[in-house]
Amino acid sequence: MKNKLFRLNFHWLFVAIIFFLNFNFVLAQTGANKITSIVWENNALTINTTNQIAYTETRIKEPDRVVIDILNCSLENKTLAKSFQSESDETISISEPALEHVRIVFSGTASINRKSYLTNNEKTLITRIARIDDVSEEKIVENSEQTTLEKIVPGNLKEIIVKEDDDKTKVLITATKPIKFNTYPLKNPDRLAIDLLNILPPDKPLPTHNPTPFISSIRIGRAASGLAATRVVIDLLKPNTGFDIDTNLLGTKIEIEFKTIKEKEETKKKPGFKVIIDPGHGGYDTGASYGGFEEKDVNLIISNKLKASLEDYGITVFLTREDDSFLSLAERTDITNSIKPNVFISIHGNALVTSKVIRGVETYYWTSQSQKLASYVHKSILNHIDIPDHFIRRAQFYVIRHTPVPAILAELGFLSNHDDRKLLTNSTTQDQYAKALTEAILKFLEIEKKD
Ligand SMILES: [Zn+2]
Repeated sequence: MKNKLFRLNFHWLFVAIIFFLNFNFVLAQTGANKITSIVWENNALTINTTNQIAYTETRIKEPDRVVIDILNCSLENKTLAKSFQSESDETISISEPALEHVRIVFSGTASINRKSYLTNNEKTLITRIARIDDVSEEKIVENSEQTTLEKIVPGNLKEIIVKEDDDKTKVLITATKPIKFNTYPLKNPDRLAIDLLNILPPDKPLPTHNPTPFISSIRIGRAASGLAATRVVIDLLKPNTGFDIDTNLLGTKIEIEFKTIKEKEETKKKPGFKVIIDPGHGGYDTGASYGGFEEKDVNLIISNKLKASLEDYGITVFLTREDDSFLSLAERTDITNSIKPNVFISIHGNALVTSKVIRGVETYYWTSQSQKLASYVHKSILNHIDIPDHFIRRAQFYVIRHTPVPAILAELGFLSNHDDRKLLTNSTTQDQYAKALTEAILKFLEIEKKD
Protein backbone atom coordinates (compact mmCIF):
# COMPACT_ATOMS: atom_id res chain seq x y z
CA MET A 1 0.00 0.00 0.00
CA LYS A 2 2.69 2.41 1.03
CA ASN A 3 4.81 1.43 -1.95
CA LYS A 4 2.04 2.13 -4.41
CA LEU A 5 1.50 5.57 -3.02
CA PHE A 6 5.19 6.16 -3.21
CA ARG A 7 5.39 5.17 -6.87
CA LEU A 8 2.43 7.35 -7.83
CA ASN A 9 4.28 10.39 -6.72
CA PHE A 10 7.17 11.00 -9.10
CA HIS A 11 8.37 13.92 -7.11
CA TRP A 12 9.25 11.60 -4.27
CA LEU A 13 11.06 9.31 -6.66
CA PHE A 14 13.41 12.17 -7.52
CA VAL A 15 13.91 12.93 -3.87
CA ALA A 16 14.77 9.28 -3.32
CA ILE A 17 17.28 9.32 -6.18
CA ILE A 18 18.91 12.45 -4.86
CA PHE A 19 19.05 10.91 -1.41
CA PHE A 20 20.60 7.82 -2.94
CA LEU A 21 23.29 9.82 -4.73
CA ASN A 22 24.11 11.73 -1.60
CA PHE A 23 23.93 8.73 0.65
CA ASN A 24 27.47 8.87 1.97
CA PHE A 25 27.25 12.59 2.38
CA VAL A 26 24.08 12.27 4.40
CA LEU A 27 25.74 9.71 6.61
CA ALA A 28 28.60 12.00 7.39
CA GLN A 29 26.28 14.87 8.07
CA THR A 30 24.93 13.89 11.45
CA GLY A 31 25.79 17.18 13.11
CA ALA A 32 22.20 18.12 13.83
CA ASN A 33 21.40 14.92 15.71
CA LYS A 34 19.56 15.40 18.98
CA ILE A 35 18.41 12.98 21.67
CA THR A 36 14.72 13.58 22.27
CA SER A 37 14.00 10.95 24.90
CA ILE A 38 15.70 8.40 27.11
CA VAL A 39 13.65 5.63 28.70
CA TRP A 40 14.78 3.00 31.17
CA GLU A 41 12.27 0.16 31.20
CA ASN A 42 12.30 -3.65 31.42
CA ASN A 43 16.05 -3.76 31.84
CA ALA A 44 16.65 -1.88 28.61
CA LEU A 45 17.72 1.67 27.90
CA THR A 46 16.04 3.16 24.84
CA ILE A 47 17.41 6.34 23.31
CA ASN A 48 15.46 8.13 20.60
CA THR A 49 17.08 10.70 18.34
CA THR A 50 16.09 12.93 15.46
CA ASN A 51 18.72 11.57 13.11
CA GLN A 52 20.81 8.47 12.43
CA ILE A 53 22.94 7.46 15.39
CA ALA A 54 26.68 6.88 15.23
CA TYR A 55 28.05 5.32 18.37
CA THR A 56 30.90 3.36 19.86
CA GLU A 57 30.56 0.86 22.68
CA THR A 58 33.45 -0.11 24.93
CA ARG A 59 33.52 -2.59 27.79
CA ILE A 60 35.88 -1.88 30.64
CA LYS A 61 36.68 -4.12 33.60
CA GLU A 62 37.51 -3.30 37.21
CA PRO A 63 35.09 -1.86 37.85
CA ASP A 64 32.74 -3.36 35.22
CA ARG A 65 31.48 -0.69 32.89
CA VAL A 66 30.06 -0.28 29.42
CA VAL A 67 30.69 3.12 27.89
CA ILE A 68 28.59 4.20 24.93
CA ASP A 69 29.62 7.34 23.12
CA ILE A 70 27.10 8.86 20.78
CA LEU A 71 28.95 11.12 18.41
CA ASN A 72 27.82 14.30 16.66
CA CYS A 73 24.85 14.35 18.97
CA SER A 74 23.53 16.48 21.82
CA LEU A 75 20.74 16.31 24.39
CA GLU A 76 17.60 18.16 23.37
CA ASN A 77 17.25 19.44 26.90
CA LYS A 78 19.45 19.30 29.94
CA THR A 79 16.97 17.28 32.02
CA LEU A 80 17.91 14.27 29.89
CA ALA A 81 21.32 14.24 31.60
CA LYS A 82 20.33 12.02 34.50
CA SER A 83 20.98 8.68 36.17
CA PHE A 84 19.00 5.48 36.57
CA GLN A 85 19.43 2.57 38.95
CA SER A 86 18.76 -0.89 37.51
CA GLU A 87 17.22 -3.90 39.27
CA SER A 88 20.59 -5.58 39.08
CA ASP A 89 22.16 -2.67 40.94
CA GLU A 90 23.80 -0.94 38.05
CA THR A 91 24.04 2.78 37.71
CA ILE A 92 23.26 4.17 34.30
CA SER A 93 24.39 7.75 33.87
CA ILE A 94 23.88 10.04 30.92
CA SER A 95 26.12 13.05 30.41
CA GLU A 96 27.33 15.45 27.76
CA PRO A 97 31.10 15.58 28.43
CA ALA A 98 31.85 17.66 25.34
CA LEU A 99 30.00 19.57 22.67
CA GLU A 100 27.98 17.23 20.43
CA HIS A 101 29.07 14.19 22.38
CA VAL A 102 26.73 12.25 24.64
CA ARG A 103 28.11 9.56 26.88
CA ILE A 104 26.19 6.78 28.61
CA VAL A 105 27.97 4.75 31.25
CA PHE A 106 26.56 1.52 32.66
CA SER A 107 28.47 0.56 35.80
CA GLY A 108 27.92 -2.52 37.95
CA THR A 109 28.34 -6.26 37.43
CA ALA A 110 25.43 -6.63 35.01
CA SER A 111 26.67 -3.84 32.78
CA ILE A 112 29.38 -5.88 31.11
CA ASN A 113 26.65 -8.11 29.67
CA ARG A 114 24.88 -5.26 27.96
CA LYS A 115 24.69 -5.04 24.22
CA SER A 116 23.33 -2.34 21.96
CA TYR A 117 21.55 -2.33 18.66
CA LEU A 118 19.80 0.20 16.46
CA THR A 119 16.17 0.16 15.33
CA ASN A 120 13.72 2.62 13.79
CA ASN A 121 15.92 3.62 10.80
CA GLU A 122 18.91 3.86 13.11
CA LYS A 123 17.25 6.60 15.16
CA THR A 124 16.70 4.43 18.22
CA LEU A 125 19.49 2.84 20.22
CA ILE A 126 18.53 0.04 22.58
CA THR A 127 20.92 -1.34 25.17
CA ARG A 128 19.86 -4.41 27.08
CA ILE A 129 21.36 -7.35 28.96
CA ALA A 130 22.63 -9.76 26.35
CA ARG A 131 24.89 -12.74 26.01
CA ILE A 132 27.72 -13.31 28.43
CA ASP A 133 29.63 -16.14 26.82
CA ASP A 134 31.73 -14.26 24.30
CA VAL A 135 33.65 -12.09 26.70
CA SER A 136 36.97 -13.16 25.21
CA GLU A 137 35.97 -11.86 21.80
CA GLU A 138 34.77 -8.55 23.12
CA LYS A 139 37.63 -6.24 23.74
CA ILE A 140 37.69 -5.70 27.44
CA VAL A 141 40.18 -3.17 28.61
CA GLU A 142 41.71 -4.34 31.86
CA ASN A 143 42.53 -2.04 34.72
CA SER A 144 41.51 1.17 33.11
CA GLU A 145 41.96 3.89 35.67
CA GLN A 146 40.30 6.87 34.11
CA THR A 147 36.86 7.10 32.65
CA THR A 148 38.36 8.21 29.34
CA LEU A 149 38.03 5.63 26.61
CA GLU A 150 41.00 3.44 26.00
CA LYS A 151 41.98 3.50 22.37
CA ILE A 152 41.45 0.18 20.69
CA VAL A 153 43.55 0.06 17.54
CA PRO A 154 41.12 -0.37 14.68
CA GLY A 155 41.56 -2.95 11.93
CA ASN A 156 41.27 -2.49 8.19
CA LEU A 157 38.85 -3.76 5.61
CA LYS A 158 40.96 -6.14 3.48
CA GLU A 159 38.79 -7.45 0.68
CA ILE A 160 35.28 -8.02 -0.54
CA ILE A 161 34.64 -11.04 -2.73
CA VAL A 162 31.41 -11.68 -4.57
CA LYS A 163 30.55 -15.28 -5.45
CA GLU A 164 27.68 -16.27 -7.68
CA ASP A 165 25.93 -19.60 -7.16
CA ASP A 166 22.91 -20.93 -9.06
CA ASP A 167 20.24 -19.14 -7.13
CA LYS A 168 22.20 -17.13 -4.61
CA THR A 169 24.93 -14.56 -4.32
CA LYS A 170 27.52 -14.62 -1.56
CA VAL A 171 29.47 -11.58 -0.41
CA LEU A 172 32.54 -12.27 1.70
CA ILE A 173 33.99 -9.38 3.67
CA THR A 174 37.42 -9.82 5.23
CA ALA A 175 39.17 -7.52 7.67
CA THR A 176 42.51 -7.58 9.47
CA LYS A 177 40.78 -7.82 12.87
CA PRO A 178 37.62 -9.50 14.18
CA ILE A 179 34.58 -7.63 12.93
CA LYS A 180 31.70 -6.52 15.07
CA PHE A 181 28.91 -5.39 12.83
CA ASN A 182 25.41 -3.99 12.64
CA THR A 183 23.18 -4.59 9.62
CA TYR A 184 20.44 -2.32 8.31
CA PRO A 185 18.15 -3.48 5.51
CA LEU A 186 17.00 -0.25 3.87
CA LYS A 187 14.25 0.47 1.35
CA ASN A 188 13.71 2.87 -1.55
CA PRO A 189 16.03 1.92 -3.09
CA ASP A 190 16.48 -1.59 -1.66
CA ARG A 191 19.91 -2.05 -0.13
CA LEU A 192 21.67 -3.61 2.81
CA ALA A 193 24.00 -1.44 4.85
CA ILE A 194 26.54 -3.09 7.14
CA ASP A 195 28.56 -1.10 9.63
CA LEU A 196 31.86 -2.77 10.46
CA LEU A 197 32.74 -1.39 13.87
CA ASN A 198 36.33 -0.57 14.73
CA ILE A 199 37.28 -1.36 11.12
CA LEU A 200 38.63 1.37 8.84
CA PRO A 201 38.03 1.53 5.08
CA PRO A 202 40.83 0.06 2.94
CA ASP A 203 43.82 2.27 2.11
CA LYS A 204 43.39 1.68 -1.61
CA PRO A 205 40.01 1.36 -3.33
CA LEU A 206 38.90 -2.26 -3.71
CA PRO A 207 38.21 -3.65 -7.18
CA THR A 208 34.64 -3.14 -8.36
CA HIS A 209 32.32 -6.08 -8.83
CA ASN A 210 30.18 -7.18 -11.71
CA PRO A 211 26.48 -7.16 -11.00
CA THR A 212 24.86 -10.48 -10.07
CA PRO A 213 21.15 -11.36 -10.25
CA PHE A 214 20.85 -9.96 -6.72
CA ILE A 215 23.40 -7.19 -6.38
CA SER A 216 23.95 -4.17 -8.59
CA SER A 217 26.91 -2.63 -6.77
CA ILE A 218 28.82 -2.40 -3.51
CA ARG A 219 29.88 0.91 -2.00
CA ILE A 220 32.35 1.48 0.82
CA GLY A 221 32.71 4.54 3.00
CA ARG A 222 33.13 5.77 6.54
CA ALA A 223 30.07 5.04 8.67
CA ALA A 224 30.26 8.57 10.09
CA SER A 225 32.90 11.22 10.35
CA GLY A 226 35.21 10.72 13.31
CA LEU A 227 34.04 7.17 13.89
CA ALA A 228 36.35 4.21 13.32
CA ALA A 229 33.75 2.23 11.42
CA THR A 230 33.25 1.34 7.80
CA ARG A 231 29.92 1.27 6.11
CA VAL A 232 29.46 -1.20 3.29
CA VAL A 233 26.32 -0.60 1.25
CA ILE A 234 25.17 -3.44 -0.99
CA ASP A 235 22.67 -2.24 -3.57
CA LEU A 236 20.03 -4.85 -4.26
CA LEU A 237 18.23 -5.44 -7.53
CA LYS A 238 15.09 -7.13 -6.21
CA PRO A 239 12.84 -6.02 -3.39
CA ASN A 240 12.21 -9.58 -2.11
CA THR A 241 15.85 -10.39 -1.41
CA GLY A 242 16.57 -12.14 1.86
CA PHE A 243 19.95 -12.44 3.48
CA ASP A 244 21.76 -14.63 6.01
CA ILE A 245 24.95 -13.62 7.75
CA ASP A 246 27.62 -15.93 9.05
CA THR A 247 31.07 -15.26 10.47
CA ASN A 248 34.15 -17.46 10.61
CA LEU A 249 35.54 -18.62 13.95
CA LEU A 250 38.05 -15.82 14.24
CA GLY A 251 35.41 -13.27 13.35
CA THR A 252 37.64 -11.69 10.71
CA LYS A 253 35.42 -12.75 7.85
CA ILE A 254 31.70 -12.32 7.38
CA GLU A 255 29.71 -14.05 4.72
CA ILE A 256 26.41 -12.66 3.56
CA GLU A 257 24.22 -14.87 1.43
CA PHE A 258 21.51 -13.26 -0.67
CA LYS A 259 18.60 -15.25 -2.02
CA THR A 260 15.00 -14.78 -3.00
CA ILE A 261 12.57 -14.94 -0.11
CA LYS A 262 10.08 -17.59 -1.02
CA GLU A 263 6.62 -16.19 -1.33
CA LYS A 264 4.71 -16.91 1.84
CA GLU A 265 1.87 -19.32 1.16
CA GLU A 266 -1.36 -17.45 1.00
CA THR A 267 -2.71 -17.80 4.48
CA LYS A 268 -6.27 -18.72 3.79
CA LYS A 269 -8.69 -16.71 5.86
CA LYS A 270 -10.29 -19.64 7.62
CA PRO A 271 -13.04 -18.71 9.96
CA GLY A 272 -12.12 -19.59 13.48
CA PHE A 273 -9.46 -18.80 15.97
CA LYS A 274 -6.16 -17.10 15.34
CA VAL A 275 -3.17 -17.23 17.67
CA ILE A 276 0.10 -15.35 17.36
CA ILE A 277 3.16 -16.87 18.96
CA ASP A 278 6.05 -14.48 19.43
CA PRO A 279 9.40 -16.22 19.92
CA GLY A 280 11.35 -13.63 21.93
CA HIS A 281 14.57 -12.06 20.60
CA GLY A 282 16.31 -13.26 17.41
CA GLY A 283 19.29 -12.39 15.24
CA TYR A 284 22.01 -10.57 17.11
CA ASP A 285 19.58 -9.99 19.96
CA THR A 286 20.27 -13.39 21.49
CA GLY A 287 18.41 -12.87 24.76
CA ALA A 288 19.89 -14.66 27.74
CA SER A 289 22.84 -16.94 27.08
CA TYR A 290 23.95 -19.62 29.52
CA GLY A 291 25.61 -23.03 29.37
CA GLY A 292 25.99 -22.86 25.61
CA PHE A 293 22.30 -22.16 25.03
CA GLU A 294 20.87 -18.95 23.66
CA GLU A 295 17.41 -17.87 24.69
CA LYS A 296 16.40 -16.91 21.13
CA ASP A 297 16.87 -20.54 20.00
CA VAL A 298 14.99 -22.05 22.94
CA ASN A 299 12.13 -19.58 22.38
CA LEU A 300 11.88 -20.54 18.70
CA ILE A 301 11.96 -24.31 19.32
CA ILE A 302 9.18 -24.17 21.93
CA SER A 303 7.17 -21.75 19.77
CA ASN A 304 7.33 -24.15 16.82
CA LYS A 305 6.21 -27.05 18.99
CA LEU A 306 3.33 -24.95 20.32
CA LYS A 307 2.37 -23.94 16.78
CA ALA A 308 2.16 -27.56 15.62
CA SER A 309 0.13 -28.52 18.65
CA LEU A 310 -2.38 -25.67 18.23
CA GLU A 311 -2.74 -26.40 14.51
CA ASP A 312 -3.96 -29.88 15.43
CA TYR A 313 -7.05 -28.11 16.72
CA GLY A 314 -7.61 -26.19 13.48
CA ILE A 315 -6.35 -22.96 14.99
CA THR A 316 -4.61 -20.63 12.55
CA VAL A 317 -1.22 -19.92 14.06
CA PHE A 318 1.20 -17.16 13.11
CA LEU A 319 4.77 -16.80 14.30
CA THR A 320 6.23 -13.30 14.49
CA ARG A 321 9.53 -14.82 13.35
CA GLU A 322 10.08 -18.22 11.77
CA ASP A 323 13.85 -18.19 11.82
CA ASP A 324 16.77 -16.56 13.57
CA SER A 325 16.03 -13.05 12.40
CA PHE A 326 16.00 -9.82 14.33
CA LEU A 327 12.62 -8.20 14.80
CA SER A 328 11.98 -5.01 16.72
CA LEU A 329 9.30 -4.91 19.40
CA ALA A 330 7.32 -2.45 17.28
CA GLU A 331 7.36 -4.86 14.33
CA ARG A 332 6.02 -7.59 16.60
CA THR A 333 3.10 -5.45 17.74
CA ASP A 334 2.49 -4.24 14.17
CA ILE A 335 2.07 -7.87 13.09
CA THR A 336 -0.25 -8.50 16.03
CA ASN A 337 -2.39 -5.46 15.45
CA SER A 338 -2.81 -6.19 11.75
CA ILE A 339 -3.81 -9.83 12.32
CA LYS A 340 -5.90 -9.17 15.45
CA PRO A 341 -5.59 -12.67 16.87
CA ASN A 342 -7.70 -14.12 19.68
CA VAL A 343 -4.51 -14.77 21.65
CA PHE A 344 -1.02 -13.30 21.58
CA ILE A 345 1.67 -15.13 23.50
CA SER A 346 5.29 -14.08 23.71
CA ILE A 347 7.69 -16.91 24.62
CA HIS A 348 10.79 -16.12 26.68
CA GLY A 349 13.37 -17.68 28.94
CA ASN A 350 14.30 -15.73 32.03
CA ALA A 351 17.76 -14.94 33.39
CA LEU A 352 19.28 -13.31 36.40
CA VAL A 353 22.88 -12.25 36.24
CA THR A 354 23.17 -11.82 39.99
CA SER A 355 21.87 -15.23 41.07
CA LYS A 356 22.01 -18.71 39.61
CA VAL A 357 19.73 -20.05 42.36
CA ILE A 358 16.55 -18.23 41.41
CA ARG A 359 14.26 -20.37 39.27
CA GLY A 360 10.61 -20.72 38.32
CA VAL A 361 7.95 -19.74 35.86
CA GLU A 362 6.69 -16.16 35.56
CA THR A 363 3.71 -15.08 33.52
CA TYR A 364 3.19 -11.44 32.63
CA TYR A 365 0.11 -9.56 31.49
CA TRP A 366 -0.82 -5.90 31.34
CA THR A 367 -4.40 -5.34 30.17
CA SER A 368 -7.42 -6.61 32.08
CA GLN A 369 -8.61 -8.77 29.14
CA SER A 370 -5.32 -10.66 29.40
CA GLN A 371 -5.53 -11.57 33.08
CA LYS A 372 -7.58 -14.76 32.65
CA LEU A 373 -5.26 -16.00 29.89
CA ALA A 374 -2.23 -15.34 32.08
CA SER A 375 -3.77 -17.29 34.93
CA TYR A 376 -4.67 -20.31 32.69
CA VAL A 377 -1.19 -20.39 31.15
CA HIS A 378 0.58 -20.06 34.47
CA LYS A 379 -1.44 -22.79 36.19
CA SER A 380 -1.15 -25.13 33.23
CA ILE A 381 2.65 -24.86 33.19
CA LEU A 382 2.79 -25.56 36.93
CA ASN A 383 0.54 -28.61 36.30
CA HIS A 384 2.71 -30.08 33.57
CA ILE A 385 6.23 -29.04 34.51
CA ASP A 386 8.06 -29.64 37.77
CA ILE A 387 9.09 -26.02 38.24
CA PRO A 388 8.61 -23.50 41.09
CA ASP A 389 5.95 -20.80 40.93
CA HIS A 390 7.59 -17.43 40.37
CA PHE A 391 4.19 -15.77 40.18
CA ILE A 392 1.88 -14.06 37.75
CA ARG A 393 2.92 -10.46 37.42
CA ARG A 394 1.53 -7.35 35.87
CA ALA A 395 4.16 -5.47 33.86
CA GLN A 396 4.28 -3.08 30.96
CA PHE A 397 6.31 -5.13 28.51
CA TYR A 398 6.13 -3.50 25.11
CA VAL A 399 4.60 -6.41 23.19
CA ILE A 400 1.77 -6.97 25.66
CA ARG A 401 1.08 -3.30 26.32
CA HIS A 402 0.67 -2.07 22.74
CA THR A 403 -2.12 -4.38 21.64
CA PRO A 404 -5.81 -4.55 22.51
CA VAL A 405 -5.97 -8.37 22.11
CA PRO A 406 -5.49 -10.75 25.07
CA ALA A 407 -1.70 -10.80 25.29
CA ILE A 408 0.73 -12.40 27.69
CA LEU A 409 4.46 -12.87 28.00
CA ALA A 410 5.56 -16.21 29.44
CA GLU A 411 8.98 -16.52 31.05
CA LEU A 412 9.08 -20.31 31.01
CA GLY A 413 12.04 -20.68 33.37
CA PHE A 414 15.47 -19.26 34.18
CA LEU A 415 18.23 -20.10 31.73
CA SER A 416 20.62 -18.84 34.39
CA ASN A 417 19.53 -21.69 36.69
CA HIS A 418 20.88 -25.17 36.03
CA ASP A 419 17.63 -27.07 36.72
CA ASP A 420 15.41 -24.70 34.76
CA ARG A 421 17.88 -24.69 31.88
CA LYS A 422 17.60 -28.49 31.71
CA LEU A 423 13.81 -28.19 31.44
CA LEU A 424 13.99 -25.52 28.75
CA THR A 425 16.55 -27.25 26.56
CA ASN A 426 15.37 -30.86 26.79
CA SER A 427 13.18 -31.97 23.91
CA THR A 428 10.77 -33.96 26.11
CA THR A 429 10.12 -31.11 28.53
CA GLN A 430 9.87 -28.69 25.60
CA ASP A 431 7.00 -30.90 24.35
CA GLN A 432 5.43 -30.68 27.82
CA TYR A 433 5.69 -26.88 27.72
CA ALA A 434 3.95 -26.90 24.32
CA LYS A 435 1.24 -29.18 25.71
CA ALA A 436 0.76 -27.01 28.80
CA LEU A 437 0.46 -23.83 26.72
CA THR A 438 -1.90 -25.53 24.26
CA GLU A 439 -4.25 -26.67 27.01
CA ALA A 440 -4.32 -23.19 28.53
CA ILE A 441 -5.06 -21.54 25.19
CA LEU A 442 -7.79 -24.12 24.41
CA LYS A 443 -9.38 -23.42 27.76
CA PHE A 444 -9.25 -19.69 27.15
CA LEU A 445 -10.80 -20.09 23.69
CA GLU A 446 -13.32 -22.58 25.10
CA ILE A 447 -12.26 -25.29 22.66
CA GLU A 448 -12.75 -28.84 23.84
CA LYS A 449 -9.53 -30.77 24.45
CA LYS A 450 -8.90 -34.06 22.59
CA ASP A 451 -7.70 -37.05 24.63
ZN1 LIG B 1 13.67 -12.87 26.76
